[in-house]
This record gives sequence, C-alpha cells and structure tokens, in this order.
Amino acid sequence: MAILNILEFPDSRLRTKAQPVEKVDDAIKQLAKDMLETMYAAPGIGLAATQVNEHKRVVVMDTSEEQNDPLVFINPEITPMTDEQGHLQEGCLSVPGFYEEVVRPNRVKVTALNVDGESFTLELEDLQAVCIQHEVDHLNGKLFVDYLSPLKRNRIKKRLEKAHRLQQHPVSA
Ligand SMILES: [Zn+2]
Repeated sequence: MAILNILEFPDSRLRTKAQPVEKVDDAIKQLAKDMLETMYAAPGIGLAATQVNEHKRVVVMDTSEEQNDPLVFINPEITPMTDEQGHLQEGCLSVPGFYEEVVRPNRVKVTALNVDGESFTLELEDLQAVCIQHEVDHLNGKLFVDYLSPLKRNRIKKRLEKAHRLQQHPVSA
C-alpha cells in the first residue's frame, strides 16, 4: 500500500475528465486500496482518483465515525432521488483549509461496480449523498469551488497559490 500525493487547486490536472474503468483488474484494486489509505491518512471522508492524478472513474469514501466502513465505487452513476436540496459546508483535500456551503440534492441513488467487478446500487442521503456527488464532480474535472462566486473562488485560488509558493521556496532563518 502507498500514500499517494494529492493534487491541489488550482492544479490544471484536477480539470481532467476521468475515463471509465473497462476491467476491474489488480491495478484498479491496488489503486482503490492506495486511495483508501491516502484518504484515511489525510484524513478525509472521500477521495476521487482524479485527486491523485489517476484519471480513471474510481471513488473511495468512508463517512462513518470510526472510519471503519470503506466504500469503493467504480464507474459510479448518480441519479437524484428528491428535489429537496441540502445545504452543507463542504471541504476538499484538494482545497485544504477552506469550507463553504454548497447546495445539492440530499438523496441520490448510486450504481457502481465494487472491487470484485460486481454491480451494486445504494441509496445515499445527507452527508453520504453530498460526498458521492462531490467525488463524481472530481471525476468530471469539477471542484466545489466552482459552485462559489468568482470572487470567493479567486480569493481561495490566490491564497493557495501563495501557500504553494511558500512550500516550494521555504524561507530559512
Ligand atoms: Zn474534493
């Protein structure tokens, strides 16, 4: 297992549209394992392959309190199950340190393949529903900051660019 490097906004590779997985082979199983390890280490409740620069339609998620209920979604397809909108504060491992409210349907149906290549369907609500929509957005090259005003998005972009510059050229005393 390995902890993978997580790309950070505004890295243009986060805008790549991920390709469907044609076969759930050992490489995909390993990717899912490494993504889970990376997500738990971060720590986070969800991670899309796009965030670790693997442009395949794979998402991992664990919203349980104990962090002992890993879910893997390969080629996830989402259908909203309600017109009711949830308003949750969202954060993102690719946009570290920023939390903003995003409005999304709060109940969805997800169909995907598991790590054995078997199809399954789940109905998710609230936090889990928000999380899977956030992760599938990543697979489509979309970030939660895209739902914010250009002003807010730009402010976040500038702050992260500055943080990245400081990481590359640390000031020594
Ligand atoms: Zn994210």
